[in-house]
Amino acid sequence: MTQADPTNKEEDEELRATATARLEDAGIGVTAERVRVLGLLIRFNDRAWTAQELAQSGLGAASDPAAITRLYRTLHLLEQRGVVTREIEASSGRPSLGYRLAGAKSPLRFRCRSCNRLVEANDERLREQLESAGALQGLPVSEGETLVLVTCSRCAAGASG
Ligand SMILES: [Zn+2]
Repeated sequence: MTQADPTNKEEDEELRATATARLEDAGIGVTAERVRVLGLLIRFNDRAWTAQELAQSGLGAASDPAAITRLYRTLHLLEQRGVVTREIEASSGRPSLGYRLAGAKSPLRFRCRSCNRLVEANDERLREQLESAGALQGLPVSEGETLVLVTCSRCAAGASG
């Protein structure tokens, strides 16, 4: 995660939109810092990340005590609101507490293609059905986020009215 991770602008924008929508869903004020931190956790949701790792990962906080304090405060807030969870992270050798996107194991989400509002569907049956339908089509549903694009009722109402 500390290495250069060549990403295109479009993906960055999508990530920001997803992070912004998650903050709004959780009733958390949207700031550039929170979008950046959450964006990182969304992109690298294959494992938990310690605050130190996050600080060194392009947040520009590695050597700035004020920025690290801000980072901890942001992570704490995200955890309080259930956006991220803390779990034991052992993949880097010594086990440590890391932060990870809540429900990141196999989330199924509905996203409005118009306003980017995000709703998580914790429906195991629906996920199983998607998986078997995908497998039949030769499109296996992989680990990680599965996104269903919809038009939310708010946007639908706005579009017709
Ligand atoms: Zn919408």
